[in-house]
Amino acid sequence: MLKGIAASQGIAIAKVYKLEQPVLDIVRKEAVAEEELAKLDAAFKKTIEDIEKIKEVASKSLAPEELAVFDAHLMMAGDPELRGQIEEKIKSENVNAEYATEEVANMMIMIFESMEDAYMRERAADIKDVTFRLKCNLCGKVIPNLATIDEPVVIVAKDLTPSDTGSLNKEFAKGFATEIGGRTSHSAIMARSLEIPAVVGCTGVLEAAHEGDPVILDALTGEVILFPTEEQIAEYTAKGEAYKAEKEALKALKAQPSISTDGHKVLLVGNIGSPADVEGVKENGGEGVGLFRTEFLYMKSEDWPDEETQYQAYKTVLEGMEGKPVVIRTLDIGGDKKLKYYTFEEEMNPFLGVRAVRFCLMRKDIFRTQLRALLRASAYGHLCIMFPMIATVKEFQEAKAVYDEERAKLIAEGIAVGEKVEVGCMIEIPAAAVLADQIAKYADFFSIGTNDLIQYSMAADRMSQNVSYLYQPMNPSILRLIKMTIDGAHKNGKWCGMCGEMAGDELAAPILLGLGLDEFSMSATSILRARKMINGLSYEAMKEMAAKAVELDTMEEVAELVKASI
Ligand code: PEP
Ligand code: MG
Repeated sequence: MLKGIAASQGIAIAKVYKLEQPVLDIVRKEAVAEEELAKLDAAFKKTIEDIEKIKEVASKSLAPEELAVFDAHLMMAGDPELRGQIEEKIKSENVNAEYATEEVANMMIMIFESMEDAYMRERAADIKDVTFRLKCNLCGKVIPNLATIDEPVVIVAKDLTPSDTGSLNKEFAKGFATEIGGRTSHSAIMARSLEIPAVVGCTGVLEAAHEGDPVILDALTGEVILFPTEEQIAEYTAKGEAYKAEKEALKALKAQPSISTDGHKVLLVGNIGSPADVEGVKENGGEGVGLFRTEFLYMKSEDWPDEETQYQAYKTVLEGMEGKPVVIRTLDIGGDKKLKYYTFEEEMNPFLGVRAVRFCLMRKDIFRTQLRALLRASAYGHLCIMFPMIATVKEFQEAKAVYDEERAKLIAEGIAVGEKVEVGCMIEIPAAAVLADQIAKYADFFSIGTNDLIQYSMAADRMSQNVSYLYQPMNPSILRLIKMTIDGAHKNGKWCGMCGEMAGDELAAPILLGLGLDEFSMSATSILRARKMINGLSYEAMKEMAAKAVELDTMEEVAELVKASI
């Protein structure tokens, strides 16, 4: 039994599927050209077959534009130039096919990577991908592919990238366990939005688990049990059933308001990563969307998504929510969130570098396209736009000025935009929390991003399980920053929400209610449980309790106080 961090609740019992890139050890060998050419021919055929198969499976879950990458790969695998060069090398040097492929691939990748044209530079990734597959086929190694899983499995990996999680098929991917990551790493967030049980930061799982091993994933406690006994399987099946039944019972609260016993109303809304997630928010009684992470739209794309594509996505969300508030965050890229078609400049600390609004203010062309798409969509509902990673008043003003310009341009062009679009600020950098009362003069609302706020306050990388003990939402230091932010908003007549994972934390909810938080945005599956909790609390009592909590020394003391007060 291994222990990790329960990142997305639920229980899964299935077989292990290891998501590990094969390691190739290619060396130069003298060889008979004819034999090598035959090997190469077979490997090319297999490579094309593999890509076609992946495309076919992926076409069931991906949109046509997302499938374009497979066509590009097929074209490359059928390119006579690539093949001709490898054949030439085999014939002229009498070397093994693996070596010839590696040499040609490396040379081509280097040429493409050094090209002026950004589009051509980005093609280097495609060459890498296709030639890696070709080399694996030559070496008889299999590349795991999430899209082709066709039986129930628990995925075991070092980490899942956002694009890995995006291609998970819920029908067969019953859960996942990763070596690294914490509750707020993006694989964990995606797992919650997909409602797939997940245990992250589970050190040793990659070595202990083998392909096909039976496994129980208890993502309620964070346990991974390999080779479970009959009794354990029965016990955990029952535990999984009980969890599902409890979830079902909560459905009775779906159409209820979120209101304390003494009549203080708050909004419980959902975090989404794509327009398709709106359904889940509505099914779970969400009173709006508190965070649409638009970067996933960019990450799934083959190139910068154009205005029309974005407009359609935002409009779908606004229409889907039928007039309820929808908070859409402008592009938050950088850090661990990369793009296939753009190479970020290497930085020592990408999480402290050019990400989110910093990137948008440097690349205003990209920012403007998104703002235009958002503004056009704003005619279809109640849109609130927010800028991520604001550190200073000036940054907010600069971003807001670009927004104002694009709004004025659209109006001059006679294009309809919403009357009452709210423009807010994410508070996820301590400097912004400290200066919240000043920022609130310019912003229409705040949304506190505790995932980053805690990472930056504690100087503890949210991706590292080694310092995950410093993820302390209930530490009085964090509570004080939250209090400053809420008070700063209220002092200026503005509302304050929270879209970091803390908003869905059951132990934190009573304090957040007491501190006066107006909107709680969380993964859809947490909404009903949070409503049950809030609807049973007294606002006045929680206000008193929260005032005491910020005066305590440690998070443990805060947790004790909360438990004694609810
Ligand atoms: C946060 O930082 O709390 C947040 C909501 O943004 P993300 O997790 O996408 O960085
Ligand atoms: Mg953030």
